Amino acid sequence: MFTLKNHLEIRDNHLVISGMDTIELAEKYGTPLYVTNESRIIDNFSAYRKAFPDADIYYAAKANGSLAILRMLARQGAGADVFSYGELYMALLAGIPREKILFNGNSKTDFELQKAVETGVRVSVDSRDEMHTLSEIAQISGKTIEIAFRVNPDVSPRTHPKISTGLKTSKFGIPADEVVSAYREASGLSGISPCGIHCHIGSQILDTSPFTEATHKMMDLVGKITELGIKLKFVDMGSGLGIPYKKEETAPTPRDHADAILPVFKERTKALGISPKLILEPGRYIVGDTTILLTRVNTVKKAAKNFVGVDAGFNLLVRPTMYDSYHYAVVANKAGSEPEETYTIAGPICETGDVFAKDRMLPRVEKGDIIALLDAGAYGFSMSSQYNGRPRCAEVLVKDGIADIIRGREDIGDLIGKQKIPERLM
Ligand SMILES: *Cc1c(COP(=O)(O)O)cnc(C)c1O
Repeated sequence: MFTLKNHLEIRDNHLVISGMDTIELAEKYGTPLYVTNESRIIDNFSAYRKAFPDADIYYAAKANGSLAILRMLARQGAGADVFSYGELYMALLAGIPREKILFNGNSKTDFELQKAVETGVRVSVDSRDEMHTLSEIAQISGKTIEIAFRVNPDVSPRTHPKISTGLKTSKFGIPADEVVSAYREASGLSGISPCGIHCHIGSQILDTSPFTEATHKMMDLVGKITELGIKLKFVDMGSGLGIPYKKEETAPTPRDHADAILPVFKERTKALGISPKLILEPGRYIVGDTTILLTRVNTVKKAAKNFVGVDAGFNLLVRPTMYDSYHYAVVANKAGSEPEETYTIAGPICETGDVFAKDRMLPRVEKGDIIALLDAGAYGFSMSSQYNGRPRCAEVLVKDGIADIIRGREDIGDLIGKQKIPERLM
């Protein structure tokens, strides 16, 4: 038997989340169903705040951008890292103050820059090209926008290549050796005011030494920028802290993350005689382990492998297909039963890669069973699609035995959406 994370438990052989029986949730709301534990989000956010008591925590909205989740975090005092106008709009709607929002992105449209100027949020500028565009847009509006530059620090985060974002060859940011001249140029332009510096080296990072390396490199740059006479108000170190998806995996905690960054940050800012605000942008850590995806077994088939066909596919949780990632699978209505056989859990999508879990020892699986995929809160629903003509599923928020729908299930009407058949084809 594996050990459940402490916000999940087993009662009458059923998996229970925050006091709610998952089988009752599946009956009431239908499957597939995302279920998020509200208290767990608050706990995770608090852990970050405790580890970095003097820093601002900007939640990375792309990890899970549901309005209710953004709202909960807004009430906890979180800021937001947004990567599109859509995320900016949702963060503001949820009540995250504009002073605590950083608009990131490596390829922003002029419209997005215009919206950043209108709302007055800070912008993380990814290139000199963008710097000039933003300067022009801001001048037309008669405003001055506070900016940071996104730095490519050339640090290997030792994680999956698709989520390494600070390698020399990655598309994000300005190469470290061009950063100082970018600040020099920016300080001579109207409409923008360079007042921060930003990096983000990757995601699902399980070894904290790259964070220390990145902090050193960033503080080298901070020193040079300070020499230019630019007073930096903030240093945003991004995030990327990993979580343990596998039982045997040990993952660093926010405290470990702080131990990797804070000593260097404190010592070097002190030596420079400056006191910029430190900003962190955790996404996965805040929401990853808070959410399960419930999916119903449609078929069990003995072929080359024992295949379990479920009603969720990679349209709802793409991580296993896209990043070869691992999610624990629990037969939620047999959660306390002994494992008996090896199963491969596959979705209903017409793609060989639509497999959630390979060769897992589970209790005997039958049609109608409910399988819970654990740790599905980060980059789960937020990366969902309607591929293969599948409306997206509902999301429920639970807290101490109470459940609320935070996103209704899509229907066929949502598949048709804004499509139109031209008159001449009728
Ligand atoms: C995705 C992203 C984050 C969050 O990364 P996690 O691995 O989810 O913590 C933070 N900052 C930026 C700029 C990002 O793109």
